[in-house]
Amino acid sequence: MDGAEASVDPHPRPLAREAAEGSHPAVSQSDEGQVSPRPRSGRGAGGEGAPLGEFALIERFFSRPSAERQGIGDDCALIDVGSQTLALTSDMLLEGVHFLPDADPQDLGHKALAVNLSDLAAAGARPRCFLLDLALPRADDAWLTAFSRGLFALAHHHGCALIGGDTTRAPAGAAGAGLLTIAITAIGEVDRTRYCGRSGARPGDDIWITGSTGEAALALAVRRGQVEIAEPARAACLLRMDRPTPRLELGRALSGTATASIDVSDGLMGDLGHILERSGVGAALYWPAIPRAPVFAALPLALQYQCVLAGGDDYELVFTAPASRRAAVARMAGDGVGVSRIGQIESAPGLRLRDGDHAAAPLIDIALQSFDHFAAPPPGPSGAS
Ligand code: ADP
Ligand code: MG
Repeated sequence: MDGAEASVDPHPRPLAREAAEGSHPAVSQSDEGQVSPRPRSGRGAGGEGAPLGEFALIERFFSRPSAERQGIGDDCALIDVGSQTLALTSDMLLEGVHFLPDADPQDLGHKALAVNLSDLAAAGARPRCFLLDLALPRADDAWLTAFSRGLFALAHHHGCALIGGDTTRAPAGAAGAGLLTIAITAIGEVDRTRYCGRSGARPGDDIWITGSTGEAALALAVRRGQVEIAEPARAACLLRMDRPTPRLELGRALSGTATASIDVSDGLMGDLGHILERSGVGAALYWPAIPRAPVFAALPLALQYQCVLAGGDDYELVFTAPASRRAAVARMAGDGVGVSRIGQIESAPGLRLRDGDHAAAPLIDIALQSFDHFAAPPPGPSGAS
């Protein structure tokens, strides 16, 4: 084990894309002990009197048909421009929601771009350029130097140029200083003949994941003082949270082989749930096959489930591929980031977590929550641990 020990919050709060979150049963338990991806009705779906969840809100107020190749619903939108197809995606980081006020500015520069490049990776796109919008509480030379260093290090690494944006002062609110907001729109190029989004999973397909999930969520629990883990596992987890690695090379390699793909920003089960919902299928996930860092072995099982299955901020890719392509997928992973086969797509709707690596293995009876910005009343800034 990697030095995990004691002091575990017996009732871990949902650990997800960030610190000051509310959460919502993006995966929920049915009578059969089956966990289902985000229901389209019920709590969070905005039925009469019910609070609107993040995804129901988008669907109800913003999801409209478009003439573009791909509109709302996948990790990226796709537009055809002449003979090219461009992938566009937009993600923001908010102080008190996605990061703490004392976050390292160089990490923030890296992460603000990385979370966007991760959506390009899910689309199998090659990054081309990006736009940067900033609402800054103040023009702080040292902060901006470090932020831009982190931003451009990652941008240069992927040959992705900053081509524009917008900069404003964040006005002071009632509580005092304005809150920092960083929004990025990233643009990439895809091979339209090889693109796969979230809707192509078919019964019988394998479910794969790159790398491992859960360490970023564990890092958040560490920062909140809910869990103590010893070095070097502690530093490794914090790095996963602060400096995510977008799986761009593998994402590109997989296009043409994967049938559906998504990046894990809100939690493995919740994000896989988006694939299931858009593909009109269900799935079995095999708990023993889901990779996790050695540090988890010494932690309570409930915390392992929460972090590995529902923790956000991992930015790994979950994808599906026909069983006939197993060798090809393993070859693509090669000596870069590893891939693990963690389940199978089934025709019966819902997501079943099994304690074995086959369809008849016993069900694991749990209810987990992936991240949703609007599932519960937003906590005040102090909620951001
Ligand atoms: P991701 O986590 O991959 O960035 P999200 O879960 O944030 O994707 O969003 C789900 C889908 O909804 C995406 O296709 C995204 O572009 C779209 N979306 C989110 N917010 C809005 C909005 N305000 N208007 C239109 N589309 C939106
Ligand atoms: Mg995404």
